[in-house]
Amino acid sequence: MNAVINAPPAAIPGPAWNNRFAALGPDFFTALQPTPLQTPYWIGRNEALARELGLLEPWFSSQESLELFTGNKVAQGLQPLASVYSGHQFGQWAGQLGDGRAILLGELQTGAGPREIQLKGAGLTPYSRMGDGRAVLRSSIREYLCSEAMHGLGIPTTRALCVTGSSAKVRREEIETAAVVTRTAPSFIRFGHFEHFSYNDQHDQLKILADFVIDNFYPACRVAAQPYAALLQAVSERTATMVAAWQAVGFCHGVMNTDNMSILGLTIDYGPFQFLDAFDPGHICNHSDTQGRYAYNKQPNIAYWNLFCLGQALLPLMDAQAQALAALESYKTVFPQALEGRMRAKLGLPDALPEDKALIEGIFQLLAADKVDYSIFWRRLGGFAPGAGNEPVRDLFLDRTDFDAWALQYSERLEPVDHGLRADLMLKTNPKYVFRNHLGEQAIRAAKLQDFSGVDTLLKLLQAPFEEHPGQETFAGFPPDWATSIEISCSS
Ligand code: AMP
Ligand code: MG
Repeated sequence: MNAVINAPPAAIPGPAWNNRFAALGPDFFTALQPTPLQTPYWIGRNEALARELGLLEPWFSSQESLELFTGNKVAQGLQPLASVYSGHQFGQWAGQLGDGRAILLGELQTGAGPREIQLKGAGLTPYSRMGDGRAVLRSSIREYLCSEAMHGLGIPTTRALCVTGSSAKVRREEIETAAVVTRTAPSFIRFGHFEHFSYNDQHDQLKILADFVIDNFYPACRVAAQPYAALLQAVSERTATMVAAWQAVGFCHGVMNTDNMSILGLTIDYGPFQFLDAFDPGHICNHSDTQGRYAYNKQPNIAYWNLFCLGQALLPLMDAQAQALAALESYKTVFPQALEGRMRAKLGLPDALPEDKALIEGIFQLLAADKVDYSIFWRRLGGFAPGAGNEPVRDLFLDRTDFDAWALQYSERLEPVDHGLRADLMLKTNPKYVFRNHLGEQAIRAAKLQDFSGVDTLLKLLQAPFEEHPGQETFAGFPPDWATSIEISCSS
């Protein structure tokens, strides 16, 4: 093995790089090199994604790849950069932010189109403000696993190619060690990039950025009567679809600031996120979010608020405010439709009937009243049989009478539905494996002791969350009591 890992770089051809964002010019970024980390080592390598990106063996597991994805060596043809953006944080205008610890290496050409490759935690940038430009092992493992979990669930997201670690010390509440996550997306442009140029009255740059996004990612908007209003509408629709998927699967993002909202409608910037354990509509996953601004049940409205900020930022490119307002309206129809569609699939209903709304609202009330485990409930409901005792799912409720009344209603609704079709739909919609906080915590504790096998096991399970994975059931069980004491804050 060593002979392969230590092969001279010239013997293993590396990838060819491009960087369209760099062509936007210096108003949009600062060109810079990542800062090396001492004696890096692999923590996780996502081989499935590497193949999709055309990063083949033996190169992907080579020393050169390890050095590149830690930021220790820059390959030929790379134009690394940190981009500038601004944003609203916790409802307040925060001014200039920018990539304070993320460095865009460049783009790889893949079968699915170009993919940007970004290092998170690769050192100081002009936008680091008070930060150290680093990311810790704990938060890097969380981002690596959660973004792949979201992808496995079919939810639009940035993805993660690998995590490397180093013994370099990083100061947070306590001393931790540094890590770098390599993440990938068609683009890392955020709402905050548009806000930045708009608030600084740099309308030429605002237009250049909007045109870049339209031409590369929303080409249909170019031929619309009002391309920039069309862009706002398209982003509103993608964001609505994404948040509906979050709600359906019980995902709380935790920091929905406008600088953490992707212009492509991807889930981005995994920090204090959480998948719900017990169902609590007002659940707050971010320990720093004292007001509950980003509670689970607030996410749909916050996404709309953020889109409003984007609309405001795009106004200089429109003839009238009414165009922006009309474009934003789409969120109000797309979100409820997308959510209802997702919920109907969770119930195993292949088509829509007017009474479905009441059925969905009814079960949410019961789940909240008894704080039922969200993911386990849905997975078990897949085995529901009309007229039977249905103990596995019924026993999840304290109030069995209320559940029985709902089950009767559900049984009636299922009468015209083919049983096989329903079971199949539910198994493909209600995951068995979700990335709960305690699972991450266990993998992180082992990783701190240099055992990375838990990271790899979780990656494989979470990339195929609807499959059974015999022998791995403990990863699909109820959270242990200590799970409620895990506190995840913005510190990462
Ligand atoms: P976040 O809340 O993680 O989305 O980060 C908000 C802003 O703070 C972004 O501009 C980040 O780049 C920056 N930031 C967060 N942590 C650090 C850090 N350790 N060093 C430098 N900048 C950081
Ligand atoms: Mg961020």
